[in-house]
Amino acid sequence: MSTEFLSGQPVSSGIALGKAFLLGGAKTEKPLFSSVENEFARLKQAFAISQDEIKQKISKAAAGDEKAAIFEAHLQILEDPEWLDSIRAYVQNQKVVCEVAVEKACADWVQTFSAMEDPYFRERASDIRDLSLRVARNLRGEKEWSPESISEECILVVHELLPSVAGMLPKKFVKGVISEVGGKASHSAILLRNSEIPGVFGIKNLLGNFKSQQNIVMDAEIGRVYVEPDSDTIEEFKKRSALFEQEKTDLKVWRQKEVKSAKNEKIQFLANIAGVEDALSAAEKGAEGVGLFRTEFLYMDRTDLPSENEQYQVYKKVLETFPQGKVVIRTLDVGGDKTSPALPIEAELNPFMGLRGIRFCFAREDVFRAQIRALLRASSFGNLWVMFPMITNVAEVLKIKKIVEEEKQILFSKATDSSEKNNFEFKFGIMIEVPAAALIADELAKHVDFFSIGTNDLTQYTCAVDRMNDSVSDLYETEHPGVLKLLEMVIESGRKNNVDVGVCGEFAGEPKSAQWLVDRGCLSLSMNAARIAKVKKYIFTKSAT
Ligand code: PEP
Ligand code: MG
Repeated sequence: MSTEFLSGQPVSSGIALGKAFLLGGAKTEKPLFSSVENEFARLKQAFAISQDEIKQKISKAAAGDEKAAIFEAHLQILEDPEWLDSIRAYVQNQKVVCEVAVEKACADWVQTFSAMEDPYFRERASDIRDLSLRVARNLRGEKEWSPESISEECILVVHELLPSVAGMLPKKFVKGVISEVGGKASHSAILLRNSEIPGVFGIKNLLGNFKSQQNIVMDAEIGRVYVEPDSDTIEEFKKRSALFEQEKTDLKVWRQKEVKSAKNEKIQFLANIAGVEDALSAAEKGAEGVGLFRTEFLYMDRTDLPSENEQYQVYKKVLETFPQGKVVIRTLDVGGDKTSPALPIEAELNPFMGLRGIRFCFAREDVFRAQIRALLRASSFGNLWVMFPMITNVAEVLKIKKIVEEEKQILFSKATDSSEKNNFEFKFGIMIEVPAAALIADELAKHVDFFSIGTNDLTQYTCAVDRMNDSVSDLYETEHPGVLKLLEMVIESGRKNNVDVGVCGEFAGEPKSAQWLVDRGCLSLSMNAARIAKVKKYIFTKSAT
C-alpha cells in the first residue's frame, strides 16, 4: 500500500477515489506591476477572452431568452471604450496592476449608476460588477466556474472552496473536494456535509504540486489524500468505500422512525437547508420540518438581487414541502465567509466581527425590507417561523420589530383582492450565536417567540477562534466548558420565560451532543438532513438503555 500521503483536516466524512480536477489556478496573489505597456497588453487579452465567453453564451442561449438580452448588454459594455479607458486610466496614472485598476474603476461606475434615479440605469451597476469579476478572473487566467464545467467524475482540487461554489457542486460528478485553506466549521464544509461529498481541507501547497487528471484516493475519515496510489491502496479503499455506503444504507430505516427522549418527550428532528432542492431531499431523509433555511444562498453566485417575488415563490415552496412541520427561515446572513457580488461589502480586517447578518441588513434596509415582505406574503402557506442572525442586543430586536410591523401595514393597505389578504403573521425569533446575546437571554426573551442557538458561531466567538482558519482549528472546541455553560444558560432562560429553544448549529447533528441537548430539555434539533438517521439511532439506543 502507498505510504506517501498528504494530510489535512477531515471536514466531511467519506471515502473517495477519482481523478483530480483543478478549479482555478495556483496563482492566488495579485502580480506585481511591471510596466504600463505590459498591463495594457494583459488587459486587452482579458477583455478579448471575456468577449469570447460572452459571445459563446449568446450563441448558446435560445432566441428570445431573457439571458441572451443580458449577455448582449454585457457585450455592449465590454465594447464601450469609456469603460476600458476608465480602467486604463488607473493603470496609467496610479501605476497599479490591472486587477487593482478593474476593482477601482468598477467601484466608480457602480457608485455612479447606483445614484441614478432611473431604475434601468441603477440595474446597470450589477452588470458592471458582473463584468468586472469576469475580467478579473480572466486576468488571473482562471476558467469560468459553472456547475456545467464539471461533466465527469472527479475530485475537486481548489485553493479555497467558496460557499457559492460549494452550494452548486454537481453531486453526480464531484466525488470529493480537497483544498488548501478552510476549516471544518466554514460554510463550505457545512455545505459539503449537507451534500454528503467527502472533504479534506487545509492541505498546504496543494495546487503547486498537483496536476489535473492525477489519480487520487481520499480518506476523509482521517484527512489523508493519496496521490497516484498503488493498486493495493486502490483495492483497499474500494472495499472501505463499499462498507461506508452499506452503513449509510443500513441507517435508512431510522429516517422516518419516531424517536423520543428517555422521559418520553417528543423530539423535533429538523433540517438545515439552503434552498428548495434541499427541502425536498430533507423530507425524504426524515426531517419533519426546517430548523434553519440559510437564505443568503439565494443571493450568492449572482450579480443581481433575488426579487421580492422570486423569494416569495421559494419560501412558499419550502413551506408547502412541510405542510405539517414548522419551517424556520433565517433572514439574510451575508458577511464573514459568505459574500455575494450583488451585495458588495468593503474589505474589512475582521469580517466575522464586522458588517455581518443583521448589521448588514440594517445597512441595506432596502434589501432587508424586500425579504421581510416576501416572508410576510408567504406566511399563509404553512407554519412559518422567521429568525434574525447575529443579534447582540435588545435595541436590534426592537428595530427589527418596527421594520416588520411597518412592512406588514404596507402589505395590509395594498392587499385589495381577498386572495392577497392573509394575516401576515410569523413566529418571531432570533439566533443566539454571539456570547453577549447568550448572556442577556432573559432580557431578549421578553421580545421574542423563540431562540435558535447557532453553535457554530457561538463556539467561534466564545473561544475566539476564526471558524475558517485551519491553523487554529484544534482550539475550535464545540464542547468547551465555556460554550456548554452558555448553552445551558440559554436553554434554562427559554424554559423560565416560556420561549421555545432549538439548536441549529452543527452541534445538534453530532449524536453525543444531540443527546446532551435532549438531556437538558432542548428538544428541537436542526441539522444537516443526512445526519438525522444517525442521530435518531443514537438517541433511541441511549433512551432504551
Ligand atoms: C451557527 O452559527 O451555528 C449557524 C447555524 O449559522 P451559520 O453556520 O450559517 O453561521
Ligand atoms: Mg451563524
